[in-house]
Formats: sequence, structure tokens, C-alpha cells
Amino acid sequence: MSQYWSPAVQRLTPYVPGEQPQERVIKLNTNENPYPPAPGVSEALREYAVDHLRLYPDPTSRALRETLAAAYDVSVAETFVGNGSDEILAFAFQAFFCHGAPLDVPAITYSFYPVYANLYGVELRKHPLNAQWEVDLDALSGTGERSGVIFANPNAPTGHAHSLDAIEALLQRVTDRVVLVDEAYVDFGAETAVALIGRYPNLLVTGTFSKSRSLAGLRLGYAMGSPELIDGLQRVKDSFNSYPVDSLASLVGIEALKDKDHFDACREHVITTRERTRQRLETLGFEVLPSKANFILTQHPDYEGAQLFAGLRERSILVRHFNTTELSNFLRISIGTDDEMDSLLEALETLCR
Ligand code: PMP
Repeated sequence: MSQYWSPAVQRLTPYVPGEQPQERVIKLNTNENPYPPAPGVSEALREYAVDHLRLYPDPTSRALRETLAAAYDVSVAETFVGNGSDEILAFAFQAFFCHGAPLDVPAITYSFYPVYANLYGVELRKHPLNAQWEVDLDALSGTGERSGVIFANPNAPTGHAHSLDAIEALLQRVTDRVVLVDEAYVDFGAETAVALIGRYPNLLVTGTFSKSRSLAGLRLGYAMGSPELIDGLQRVKDSFNSYPVDSLASLVGIEALKDKDHFDACREHVITTRERTRQRLETLGFEVLPSKANFILTQHPDYEGAQLFAGLRERSILVRHFNTTELSNFLRISIGTDDEMDSLLEALETLCR
């Protein structure tokens, strides 16, 4: 704590990402993709002229946004790109959620939302998940003054996803403020809400190249919404750094978006591995929450989450364990390669004997 810090920074509890180990481990703790990015990415990187680095990037990220718009069937004016979706979420808090009324949010969700709420002085109105560990969209869209609504679909760290119809029903109820749907994990079996953008000018969808496109190291994210929402994000963005993303990220992002076959093959492989892992965990007596993401949340009735986490860590397998009351018995396990999941399952089999 320092006297020089502003009150917002004094009360801030920063987000702590999963450990990045120095030694060789099986890393299933931060929901990265186990497969490499599209082959076009390495080619583009090899051909990238160093001379490009001398120049500032395109301040409109036109080429990347055009490719994104074509891939999602929206107009360029409905797209925005940033340095990872975390950065875009921060812009959204500043642009849309500082109205002095509470922001409706699920009680269990992505832990960056409370960090930004703290930083920007936004009060959160937290709604418990229902008995099936699903985000309660009715509660989230209840009456009363609000600054907006934010939720992840699929939710993190539970993995449950709502249908497009359910999200549309929420949008019909919340019309006065922004509804932000964080689709970081949407490509692993859920439906994107991008198709609703034309009909709901208050809908903002965010997404990332970190998961389904295997580019977490690059820091590239996007948002899609009505031009007036994109304009709001742009105003905040320009106050920090008028260059949306660097030229290397643009180039790589375009290559990743162009290769639909690679994208589909990777995500289908992750989905198949997820379902196989779920079945085998259930055979070992684990409860596994249904997931449409590239991770699963699971607990064993007879073994504590912290104990299993430590046992796996000893065997150089990293998963995520949350120290919150509701989730303390659970492990969140990212879906790795089939070999990695076999090693995980073998280790759990030993630990649960
Ligand atoms: N939203 C959710 C729900 C996430 O889990 C993550 C990844 N931790 C992000 C957004 C941020 O992803 P990135 O900044 O890598 O785009």
C-alpha cells in the first residue's frame, strides 16, 4: 500500500492469472489451445519484413477488421480490435458501465470483471447461479436501475452456455443499457450472439484469438456491436493509444481468420477430447459440469480439490484451483492434447485410489 496510490488502486485486488511455470509441465491451467495456430501464421511471420517495425501500424486496423467483418458477416463499422479481450473489457467498463448504478453480473464468472469494477468505481450486483450452476439470465435482467449487464457465454469457470434464444430474451428485457456478452470460449460448441447485433444496438459481443485460434501469446481480441457502441470504445481507446493493435498482430490475426479448415479441425478435436475426458472422469467418480468451452469444472465427492490440485502439481500437471468458498472443491481443467489428458487421467486415477 502506498500513500501515492489513488483510492481506486488502494482498494484494488489485481487479477492473478494461472501460473506460468519455468519447468516442463503438462499445462492445463489457463485454457490455452494445445494445437498450433494456422499454418499460414508461420509463413506470414517468416515473410514479415523487419522494416515494417520501423513504421507505425494502420491506426484503423482496416485490413484486420475487414477480414473479421467478412468472417462474422457484419460491417467493418461494427468491429473493433484490441490487445486481448481483457483490454477491450476494460474499455467497455469505461465507455458503458460508469453510470453510477449497479452492473448486473453473475456471482460466479470471469474474475477480471470485479477487478475492473473496482478500478473504475462500478458497483456490482451479483446474481447467484441456479442449482445447475447456470447463469440466471432472468435474475440478470431483472427490473431496477442498472449501468449494464455483463456475462460470459460460455461462462467461466463453469463452461455452461445459454442458447441464442435465451440471450435474445434477455435483450428484449434490457434495452436501456449495454449488454456485454463475453464470448472468449464460444467456438467450442456454443452459439455466437453476433447474429443479433443488427437488431439490438445495445449488444456488445467480445471475443479473443487466444483460445480457438491458438494465439494467446499475441494479445489479440475483438468486439462486435452497433457502430454507436464501437464508436464509444474507440473514444476510450484513442485516449490511451490511437493504434488499436500492432502491425504484427494484425498480420497474424488475418492469417488465423482466413484458415477456416484449420480452425474447425482444432476446435472439433478439442471438443472430442473434452467429451472423452468427461466420460473418463465420470467413471472415476467425478462430477463434471456440462461444458461448451475448452475446459471442464469438476469435483470428486470423496477428495478435496486442494488435495487433488497439490497431487497433480507434484506430478508436474498444472490445473486451476480457486480459493473461493463456492468453488474450493472444484478443479478447472483445460483441454490439452489426447496424450496430456491421458496423463492427467492416469494421475487422477492414482490419486483417487
Ligand atoms: N474472457 C474470459 C471469460 C476469459 O476467461 C478470458 C481469458 N482469461 C478473457 C476474456 C481474456 O482473454 P484474452 O485477453 O486473452 O483475449
